[in-house]
Amino acid sequence: YAAKQRKDGAVVYDPEIDQGSQQSLSLLSELRRAIDRDEFRLHVQPKLMLASGKVVGVEALVRWVHPERGFIGPDDFIPFAEKTGFIRTLTRWVLEQSAALCAELNARGLDLKLSVNLSTRDLLDLELPGKFADILMRHQVRSSSFCLEITESSIMDDPVRAQQTLERLHAMGVELSIDDFGTGYSSLAYLKRLPVDELKIDKSFVQNMARDADDRKIVRSTIDLGHNMGLRVVAEGIENVEVWHLLVAMGCEQGQGYFMSRPMPSDQFLDWLQRWQAPTPAVAV
Ligand code: C2E
Ligand code: MG
Ligand code: MG
Ligand code: MG
Repeated sequence: YAAKQRKDGAVVYDPEIDQGSQQSLSLLSELRRAIDRDEFRLHVQPKLMLASGKVVGVEALVRWVHPERGFIGPDDFIPFAEKTGFIRTLTRWVLEQSAALCAELNARGLDLKLSVNLSTRDLLDLELPGKFADILMRHQVRSSSFCLEITESSIMDDPVRAQQTLERLHAMGVELSIDDFGTGYSSLAYLKRLPVDELKIDKSFVQNMARDADDRKIVRSTIDLGHNMGLRVVAEGIENVEVWHLLVAMGCEQGQGYFMSRPMPSDQFLDWLQRWQAPTPAVAV
């Protein structure tokens, strides 16, 4: 790799050799530093009952405000965090922040569900359920206030171990959701095998469903599939009121999307909630 032995025996890093891994090394150390320097931000996006417009929860979505490079979205560092194992640290941070938010909401009499995204590495981490239980206890919040979102592809690597972790989490009373449903592989096999409570239809099918008949067919079939499996169905990527109405007509219980709200810094959520008014009538079917 990039290390070179000097005559005096010291090992130095030569930027000419293996620039890729050199950059990876510095990105990893920047991520580690970002925790200490408090550069991650918890954003949340409201999750609503589609028929009534009532807010029932929020999804936690992490962002990185880098001192030089500015705002960085999760798609630009989560895959790297997964590859290097840093995701375990980050997931704990997100769970910790979400639990703190949950406690704050509870203190104001709000019983909302916190949805948190998990990655491959998290499912292979046998310590996760214990660590999570510890976080819940410290913040005095209930496990049933949480829903953990997992993607189909993230279950693939080591299905047996992933299933073990998920079963332990579910036994704690945490809800589980299959995220981005329809975009991965073997999705049906996982629906059958895992202790899932919720199915989330990927936004790529939802966004354009008012215009695209094929998307509508896929969404309708997915909603029916979810219901037949006894699951709650959530649509992500609702960008206009037409899509909202179509989903209500199809019997989809919950949804989230830019039409209701983009993800916002978590400390703005209470203000947003006070101002939120579902378009009347929320249901026009
Ligand atoms: P996801 O979990 O499927 O989250 C939904 C993504 O869709 C979010 O992107 C959200 O901002 C976006 N979205 C929501 N409504 C709309 C809409 O109406 N239109 C469009 N075009 N997009 C919408 P975001 O925040 O950039 O996150 C991207 C992905 O990064 C997430 O997809 C999730 O897989 C991952 N991610 C985010 N935060 C975390 C985290 O804390 N841990 C882990 N492991 N992954 C995370
Ligand atoms: Mg998600
Ligand atoms: Mg999703
Ligand atoms: Mg996604």
